[in-house]
Amino acid sequence: ATPTALLVGTGRGAQLGILIKGPQVLESTRRVDTIVLDKTGTVTTGRMTLVATAPTAGTTEAELLGLAGAAETGSEHPIAKAIVTGARDRTGDLPTPESFASTDGLGVQALIDGRVVLVGRPRWLADQWAIPLPSDLQAALSSFEGQGRTVVAVAWDGQANGLIAVSDTVKPTSAAAIAEFRRLGLRPVLLTGDNEIVAAAVAAEVGITEVRAGVLPAEKAEAIRQLQSEGRVVAMVGDGVNDAVALATADLGIAMGTGTDVAIEASDLTLVRSDLVAAADAIRLSRRTLATIK
Ligand code: ADP
Ligand code: MG
Repeated sequence: ATPTALLVGTGRGAQLGILIKGPQVLESTRRVDTIVLDKTGTVTTGRMTLVATAPTAGTTEAELLGLAGAAETGSEHPIAKAIVTGARDRTGDLPTPESFASTDGLGVQALIDGRVVLVGRPRWLADQWAIPLPSDLQAALSSFEGQGRTVVAVAWDGQANGLIAVSDTVKPTSAAAIAEFRRLGLRPVLLTGDNEIVAAAVAAEVGITEVRAGVLPAEKAEAIRQLQSEGRVVAMVGDGVNDAVALATADLGIAMGTGTDVAIEASDLTLVRSDLVAAADAIRLSRRTLATIK
């Protein structure tokens, strides 16, 4: 009777829009007591839009957007898509970079018309490239962050020449899903590479009190291991390349259906509609299915 009940469980999962890698997954789902949620693309839509720019004196917005937009054409990150779309809308065609490289969770670098252009986390520019923000940009950074914006710095010719602020919106079902996780006895934790101010704003909006912000992709898996070492059984929901190792490390990895292939491959469950409510459904379903077997 056991295999049949488990297969009924997985079949019902498919109806609910949950793809389960195998019946054995239901067992780990049952024991989960903590649910770690990636912010961008998981709790939020991940469809970011460019909302503001701050070029330094002597730089035009068109110059800033032209170079940043061109540098981001090679990246799949939601921030990159927002910058490329915003730059094309405001300045037209973008030059094609001669070369491109990206560093997960930090930023991109590209060679454009012989210039090295960097777009990324302000701390990355300062620490890895020794390009600090001048004081006018530091003031603009605080002001944008105070409004809950995600901010990237843009540098070329060895100096920071401007900032770009993007904004994302919380998915309409995220708050309800988080309330449902709590009813199921799960402790929600928000995990993000984004800054603390943005993370706290999103957490407050959806009812999460535990936040780990400014976490590099490699540190996301460490954060999961840390919770496991405290005796917790951890589910992780994510969508990005930067989430893959953490998804594989978690006791239960859950990928968004709109996420990257690596995230889906690293996971035990995939939510077809990329809606967190389906993750709560999956946990409830597996508990009910296993109860049926007993
Ligand atoms: P999250 O954990 O919320 O999904 P990421 O780890 O993907 O966020 O990114 C963390 C930070 O790294 C971003 O807030 C941004 O500052 C920087 N970053 C990542 N990718 C890019 C990119 N393509 N362009 C500019 N900045 C980037
Ligand atoms: Mg993400």
